[in-house]
Amino acid sequence: MSDDLPVIPHIIDGEEVESLEPAYFEDINPYTREPRARVALGTQRDAERAIDSARRAFDTGPWPRMGYAARATVLHRLADLMESKAEELGMADTLDMGKPIALTTHHDVPRSARNFRFFADHAALSTGDQLPMDTGHHGYSLFEPAGVVAAISPWNFPLMLETWKVAPALAWGNTVVLKPAEDTPASAHLLGRLAFEAGMPPGVLNVVQGFGPNAPGEALTRSPKVDRITFTGESGTGRIIAAAAAKNLVPVSLELGGKGANIVFDDADMSTAVEWSAKAIFTNSGQVCLAGSRIYAHVSVFDEFVERLVATAEAMRFGDPTHPDTELGPLASKEHYAKVMSYFDVLVEEGGTLHTGGPGDGWAVRPSVVTNVPLTGRMCREEIFGPIAVVVPFTTEEEVVGHANDTRYGLNAILFTENLSRAHRVSARLRAGTVWVNCFFVRDLRAPFGGVGDSGVGREGGNFSREFFTEPKAVVMAIDRG
Ligand code: NAD
Repeated sequence: MSDDLPVIPHIIDGEEVESLEPAYFEDINPYTREPRARVALGTQRDAERAIDSARRAFDTGPWPRMGYAARATVLHRLADLMESKAEELGMADTLDMGKPIALTTHHDVPRSARNFRFFADHAALSTGDQLPMDTGHHGYSLFEPAGVVAAISPWNFPLMLETWKVAPALAWGNTVVLKPAEDTPASAHLLGRLAFEAGMPPGVLNVVQGFGPNAPGEALTRSPKVDRITFTGESGTGRIIAAAAAKNLVPVSLELGGKGANIVFDDADMSTAVEWSAKAIFTNSGQVCLAGSRIYAHVSVFDEFVERLVATAEAMRFGDPTHPDTELGPLASKEHYAKVMSYFDVLVEEGGTLHTGGPGDGWAVRPSVVTNVPLTGRMCREEIFGPIAVVVPFTTEEEVVGHANDTRYGLNAILFTENLSRAHRVSARLRAGTVWVNCFFVRDLRAPFGGVGDSGVGREGGNFSREFFTEPKAVVMAIDRG
């Protein structure tokens, strides 16, 4: 590994530090396929050092004690800094994982800043319950910070998902150890630096770099000094983390994989359906937990839908993710490229038809549209996490609700219809954490976000994040009635 590469260290206790036993791993740019940085290779001991720092900052430092309004001031200042450094933060994710700059700098970074603004205000404006009791007592509730939060995040929306965890945890007075995904270390590091610039005391936000198993990720999930674990990643990893957390009875929030159903009814506005269906499966090269990857199109519109989806896929601008006009970049890593490519072999085994797409240059996969695959086969059932749209015809509403719910996942579903009653009726019947009607990816940060089945445990967002990142307390007082 070249010594000329810039180094991405840990941030522990307010300092940029190397690992206790200094070692590094390469941060690869998936577009150039060249290393772009050396990253501190954290061990379990480095994670423990970060946990100890967060523990001290929580047990004796000012952050949990300074009050919501004072914390909100720091968090808004952090959001200001993030907005002023949007190009740098966006480029960090673009170079780490190949997501086009149009999405990182102009979508993920503003949303990440908004995560801080929203949760800062939410915590500052939240009220507990007042419970006047007819027994001669008065009750009320308080939301107290939970303690040390371990936040473990994936590589597909690096900064956005990190801040989705870190912002509410901090707003509610907790201290945090963040472990970004090993493929995307850079934006978390910048976030940790900006937090200090914004005035956050040492130890409040620690960032430890490295891998999951037998590494910092695992140490965070096994530590008895951690009070909450918030994890986003694969369902299999979620199972391992839930088992580790159970040993110490630490509450976990798990946001996991998905295989979103996208239903196009015969009464849909076809332009809306095609436009949003393409976005739902091709954005970020399909590396989206919420991707609408199982498309069910009514038989009467099936051919037209497929034809128009193919045309949309073929018109997408594909290439260098640092170019402002690029819509699709490479997949995030060589390993992930190999995984997605293996599904073209599955497609052949299942006798499916590839209408457009297939491999691109380097680690890229072109937006692909597939039909003629069995409902019970792997193309229809597994999370491919790539830009491959599987389209299946259906005949009746009853039938398609059955198809949509026939999955171990349940993160989200999408439906396109101009029939209002059908929209409500089907939304209610779909087993999913979020249902979008005639749109996709629109989020209100107050809404519950999470999944059913293998897509997760718990909900985050608004009051749901408050419940997770605090210890709600009841106080009951006797009143001397005189
Ligand atoms: P992953 O599970 O491989 O890794 C996620 C994080 O967990 C990484 O930081 C990794 O280092 C860490 N990790 C791995 N093994 C661990 C262990 N044993 N103990 C502790 N930490 C460990 O997931 P990924 O490949 O980075 O992300 C893609 C997955 O994330 C997809 O399945 C996708 O659907 C899911 N995802 C879900 C949501 C959601 O909100 N539900 C959002 C984005 C991504």
